[in-house]
Amino acid sequence: MRIAMISEHASPLAAVGGADAGGQNVHVAQLAIELARRGEEVTVYTRRTAADQPARVPLEGAEVVHVDAGPAEPVPRDELLPFMSELAAGVADDWRSRGAPDLVHAHFWMSGLAALDASAAHLGRTGERVPVVQTFHALGTVKRRHQGAADTSPAERESLEPRVGRDADAIIATCEDEVDELEAMGIAREKTSVVPCGVDTTRFTLDGPRVRMTDASVIAVIGRLVPRKGADLVIQALARLGSVGGRAPELLIVGGPGGGDPSIYSDPEIARLAQVARDAGVGDRVRFTGQIPQRALPSVIRGVDAVVCTPWYEPFGIVPLEAMACGVPVVAAAVGGLRDTVVDGVTGMHVPPRDPEALAAALAELLPDQLRRARMGAAGRRRVEQGYTWPSVAQATAEVYRALTGAVPGAAEPAALARAAGGWPR
Ligand code: UDP
Repeated sequence: MRIAMISEHASPLAAVGGADAGGQNVHVAQLAIELARRGEEVTVYTRRTAADQPARVPLEGAEVVHVDAGPAEPVPRDELLPFMSELAAGVADDWRSRGAPDLVHAHFWMSGLAALDASAAHLGRTGERVPVVQTFHALGTVKRRHQGAADTSPAERESLEPRVGRDADAIIATCEDEVDELEAMGIAREKTSVVPCGVDTTRFTLDGPRVRMTDASVIAVIGRLVPRKGADLVIQALARLGSVGGRAPELLIVGGPGGGDPSIYSDPEIARLAQVARDAGVGDRVRFTGQIPQRALPSVIRGVDAVVCTPWYEPFGIVPLEAMACGVPVVAAAVGGLRDTVVDGVTGMHVPPRDPEALAAALAELLPDQLRRARMGAAGRRRVEQGYTWPSVAQATAEVYRALTGAVPGAAEPAALARAAGGWPR
């Protein structure tokens, strides 16, 4: 199968952990690589963000194409809408010169617009339509509900996002909760399949180095440091938590600007969180690492006693899977994808959203109980191995593609096989 993906802001080549690069980048990269490994021919189109980016970059058997759409510099995600027609035109041009794919899989609502436009352009030129598969990753309706006036999405999202849902040929939701949200937006349930995100279980493993800098209990918050991820709730919970084994627990906050950069405290969100910690009287027990590259994260995760994820809402949330894959229990707000991935009392604990009191109570129960943490960690590892590896996610995604196109997944052309093996005979 020839598969095009569009991921307008989230390049699979970007370093993740900053304000605009997170789970979607990881998802698109891993899905593309895994589908290529299965013998599919995968091209990911993303917006050019620097003048010196090569037009085409190989990515472990898949290929990333940088398309000119707006200025060749970083532009915040919520300001990209005006450049979507240029992105669509660039994608359609590439199809014209290299042949059209069997389908296009768009990631995020704006990529959906570009995919539908590119498909329409192709139809106009050839009389054939390229089917569109849509994964939203996040929904404007949910964001607006939780963020209110702080939501910087363009106003047009309200009408355009449901349109993408209606016009796409198939929708992939990443959790059950999203299916309900999509239905509430007027998108037929029958069109939606649930395929979760995955985790690299060969990188995030039980065994391996662990970074441990203190004898005290350590919990970690990992992710893009944006307010809705709720790191401040964890700081407030830390302040309510008594000592564990005679030592006051510590909190590691991972994410934000480049790690090792001494100026991380000039980042507004880190500065705000540091102030919250000082105000709560725990400034000396909260450490900011800045962004840590994926390859170094497993050793950090293995070194903590629990990973805490308490976002206000969460379309999926890959971080809990990464913790589970490393055998670390997860204390998670019972929202969105976290209700599917974290099994309360088995792989971790659920707490009500935006409730530092309840979070402190859960941590007070879990942190001193080493046996329980070890049992939950082992159960977490089993759970990701059973349902959340990238090969199983790619398999389920290929099933959706197959249902749409009638193609046999994995029945690749020789050229795609050659490219997956490292060589591309063009
Ligand atoms: N991440 C990272 N380094 C950091 C912070 C985050 O590699 O310093 C990665 C993290 O491991 C995960 C992704 O960024 O793979 C965040 O994905 P998630 O789905 O949890 O949240 P999103 O960013 O999509 O809201």
